[in-house]
Amino acid sequence: KLHNTILELKGNIRVFCRVRPVLSDVDARGADGSVISYPTSVESLGRGIDLMYSAQKYCFTFDKVFAHKSSQEEVFVEISQLVQSALDGYKVCIFAYGQTGSGKTYTMMGKPEAPEQKGLIPRSLEQIFETSQSLQCQGWTYKMQASMLEIYNETIRDLLSPNRSTSSCLTLLNKQYTIKHDSAGNTHVPDLTVVDVCSIKEISFLLDQAARSRSVGKTQMNEQSSRSHFVFTLRISGVNVATEQQVQGVLNLIDLAGSERLAKSGSTGDRLKETQAINKSLSSLSDVIFAIAKKEDHVPYRNSKLTYLLQPCLGGDSKTLMFVNISPEVSSASESICSLRFAARVN
Ligand code: ADP
Ligand code: MG
Repeated sequence: KLHNTILELKGNIRVFCRVRPVLSDVDARGADGSVISYPTSVESLGRGIDLMYSAQKYCFTFDKVFAHKSSQEEVFVEISQLVQSALDGYKVCIFAYGQTGSGKTYTMMGKPEAPEQKGLIPRSLEQIFETSQSLQCQGWTYKMQASMLEIYNETIRDLLSPNRSTSSCLTLLNKQYTIKHDSAGNTHVPDLTVVDVCSIKEISFLLDQAARSRSVGKTQMNEQSSRSHFVFTLRISGVNVATEQQVQGVLNLIDLAGSERLAKSGSTGDRLKETQAINKSLSSLSDVIFAIAKKEDHVPYRNSKLTYLLQPCLGGDSKTLMFVNISPEVSSASESICSLRFAARVN
């Protein structure tokens, strides 16, 4: 009963927590034992996560907690309905939030070279193409359009721009993309590359292109750390020839920039500017989701590029899922508590 009321209050916002496995034995455990007590049974995926830090116990509850042993397949099963609803005409956003190295990119993209380790993005797209084909016999035809961008220092970069590899860095940085919303509630970013896609093969090609274009920076924490938000958008228009029904769905899959705080990354100069931009957009995202969950009259979408871009897909009858990714190591415990608190707020 209580559970139901919480879900009602939250509307269409869900928060899942995923703890990645320990990658090496070094530094995995503190003097006081294990950092995170995983849900005891992986099969009955729990909702709670406990964490010990400085002799204090922190407990959090989410819609679902995936233990370190949860496979990509197990995680996908829990979101496939949500992905499906984009074909039914809903606007869907799925975010991965967490410090660098906590498994955001693994959750979203996975390791495409290993089929069982494919992440949510390739799995979602496979499901969408398969389902849209099987719906053809019921009279449905779908048109899909993909775009991929990143938001770096509050600036949009087109990851599918044909000029991207040839033009100089300076021109790219100078190009200003504006975000516009039309009366029908659709987002337009004039000049952003939008590609018609008909098959999973075409999309895979585009994802490769986008991955090559993404900016990566160097911090003390992770050389490959992404300092930008990656936003994959698939627009789905469906028409049924028999019933003349029409649907317009959107699926946004977002790999957020690392949420780690300043001191740990040893940020100065450009890196400091990056971190400030990241902090600003992540806290704006939290503010927006919090305001939606609380059904507040004013939702501060305009405070960051990310929330303004996604405005039509956040709130209303759209559906939002946030993954909070957690590193299990002791050295990450305080950062993990910050991530869990962030997610508990939007939860
Ligand atoms: P982030 O994108 O948050 O910086 P990554 O997704 O790159 O983090 O993950 C960091 C490392 O941990 C990568 O080597 C990744 O393959 C590995 N990893 C993350 N999550 C898992 C998982 N659930 N199972 C196995 N390896 C994982
Ligand atoms: Mg990453």
